[in-house]
Amino acid sequence: MTHPDDPATADDDGALGGVHIKYLHHCPRQLWLYTRGYRPEQRSDLVAFGEVVNDTTFTRRHDIDLGEAKIDWVTTGAVVHETKSSRAPSPAHAAQVRHYCLLLERRGITVRGGTVHYPLVRRTLDVPWDDDARTQAEADEDRARTVIAAAEPPARLARAQCRGCSYLDYCWGD
Ligand code: SF4
Repeated sequence: MTHPDDPATADDDGALGGVHIKYLHHCPRQLWLYTRGYRPEQRSDLVAFGEVVNDTTFTRRHDIDLGEAKIDWVTTGAVVHETKSSRAPSPAHAAQVRHYCLLLERRGITVRGGTVHYPLVRRTLDVPWDDDARTQAEADEDRARTVIAAAEPPARLARAQCRGCSYLDYCWGD
């Protein structure tokens, strides 16, 4: 799992990590705030919970550190693996895995695809890696860079969509 407080988010040189793509899909405003140094998730119970799930589920796996992103692990092929502490798949999870596939491919690795693991519900989600997936991953990068470059933060989501977001304080003064 890539954590927001990892040095994996090399904002300064424009490199995009998994967390950028995750936030892009969750809320562009969150991505914008994150890249400007506002990172309340460092104190979030949810993030701490995710770390515990990750650390106790696959104890023999080792992160692959790409600099801008840390991949949970890669198996022969190469197949990218990502562990999530949530109980339900979200489009952001698959997008994050596609981003890792793209980063690996750019390093000359022949990528076969990805798998998202949901240990709390004993489920996995396969993420294909093909021309469509590559196009989606590249489009996500472009979209993330556009959001990050904006002079003003994107608008808030509807209040109901902000439930559980660690940026609630900042956005809504809760
Ligand atoms: S509180 Fe809502 S608007 Fe603010 S970053 Fe989170 S999801 Fe986006």
